[in-house]
Amino acid sequence: MQPKFIFVVGGVLSGVGKGIATASIAKIVKSYGYKVTAIKIDPYINYDAGTLRPTEHGEVWVTDDGGEIDQDLGSYERFLSVDIPKINNITTGQVYKEVIDRERAGKYLGSTVQFIPHIPEEIIRRIGEASKGFEISLVEIGGTIGDYENIPYLFAVKSLSRIRGRDNVAVVMLAYLPMPSHIGEMKTKPTQQAIKQLSEHTIFPDIILCRAREPLDSVRKKKIEIYANIQTEYVISAPDVDCVYEVPINFEREGLGKKLLKRLNLSPRKEPDWTKWTSLVEVITDSSRRVKIGMVCKYLDTGEFTVKDSYISVREALQHAGSREGVGVDIKWIDAKDIEENGTGILDEIDGIVVPGGFGTSGIEGKIEAIHYSRKNKIPFIGLCLGMQLALVEFARNEMGMEGANSSESDPKTPYPVIDLLTEQEELLKESRYGSSMRLGAYAARLNRGSRVYQLYEETGRLAKDRKKLENIKEDFRIGIIDEKDPVILERHRHRYEVNPYYISDFEKAGILFSGVHQPVQGEPLMEFLELSDHPFFVATQAHPEFKSRFEDPSPPFVGFIKSVVLRKTQ
Ligand code: GLN
Repeated sequence: MQPKFIFVVGGVLSGVGKGIATASIAKIVKSYGYKVTAIKIDPYINYDAGTLRPTEHGEVWVTDDGGEIDQDLGSYERFLSVDIPKINNITTGQVYKEVIDRERAGKYLGSTVQFIPHIPEEIIRRIGEASKGFEISLVEIGGTIGDYENIPYLFAVKSLSRIRGRDNVAVVMLAYLPMPSHIGEMKTKPTQQAIKQLSEHTIFPDIILCRAREPLDSVRKKKIEIYANIQTEYVISAPDVDCVYEVPINFEREGLGKKLLKRLNLSPRKEPDWTKWTSLVEVITDSSRRVKIGMVCKYLDTGEFTVKDSYISVREALQHAGSREGVGVDIKWIDAKDIEENGTGILDEIDGIVVPGGFGTSGIEGKIEAIHYSRKNKIPFIGLCLGMQLALVEFARNEMGMEGANSSESDPKTPYPVIDLLTEQEELLKESRYGSSMRLGAYAARLNRGSRVYQLYEETGRLAKDRKKLENIKEDFRIGIIDEKDPVILERHRHRYEVNPYYISDFEKAGILFSGVHQPVQGEPLMEFLELSDHPFFVATQAHPEFKSRFEDPSPPFVGFIKSVVLRKTQ
């Protein structure tokens, strides 16, 4: 079957949950037995999200194949429990670069290369590539339909409907109904205007999702029906929710899945079973059993909203593991600089400590103090990327007598650079090739069978036992050297610095167990996981396991962390 397409466009304003709506629709159509993927279009000129500031755009999402992408791809993976490759993110920068490169290579045979038809053609080609092998492809167009930047994509939607026929292309519009406090009533006018704007492109929505503080009443549904000339049953209410995983359940309450399938001339292949999903949601929203996790981070000075967005995958991974273990997770956002100024008192009522990834030098000492506190007071700790690097810095300074030990990223003159650049990377940096100096995407790690990390990956069925799970990782450099008998796992990376091979045996003698190692095809082994055995849970990794945590299949290190948090609390 050739893929059919469901486009999701934004009316009125962005930032009201288009990514979650797209992920939810994808999950719903998948639950009816179809092979589904989801694509994100970002209408900016950046080639990818690698250079975007996290405080402006939220976290950078990393794919198995090393793409640095907008965080919406993360929502798709979390909802669908699949790995999505980087071609599923299309930016205007990529589209234009491809067209210009082709023009330079003489591929247009002397014809004038123009906005129309060449740009929409390239957009359609990219959508087609990413949809290969799937039956239904969700395509989310970033921003809103009124944006100039959206024009080529709307044109592509129109062309694709013409080329593939009406049965193969559906359009969902996400609108927002404000409720001004002095009126106390939901207003449909902005939605009406968005419908009008979309119709100027001769695109008519098949479904309108109405985001609002509250569910939509029949009066408003009727108004939209008349204005959009679309039956009330295709106007779907999308009220605010406590937890994003409630969204597909709400949509299904209004029969969205069957309506969309009907529109695409498809019938359900099976009846969906939402039992497990619903019970996981209930834990998040209703659980009286709650744990408090301290997230020691930076970017706090830009306000609560962006902070949460900068660490969205870690936050979600904690929630996923919490649902599995039957506890709600409350996160306390702790500014590392606050610990530097006021000490670790703020950590007193915390059940577990996370030190997530980060770049640069700000807040480093506060993070090190938090790690020291969790190690000494036996508070469960998980360190992610920078969090693992600093765990070693802390250990070197306080247990191995290496005063002034540091990562050469924070202190280039440190007498003990326990975390350092590898020689190859240093050369790339000297040439200012910052992008290529980064270790990006999934890398295999061989686990030590006697370790806690091994036990966690084994228990959760995440070991790549028969190499099947390594199948979509074709490049040798990602797998490195492994033996058929080795227990292997894959986790994603985004960093430059590594554990300095010179200090590895010293660390081991002092009690650090490096429980996972990547052996590159050429060069020294890279340390992927560490743990301490005389601690309830002290695990850190050079990878970002949060990128592979799914609502229905949480990440093993996070499961272990939450388990030990719960254990400690109930003892
Ligand atoms: N700044 C560190 C490095 O580049 C850690 C990066 C991260 O935490 N993602 O190695």
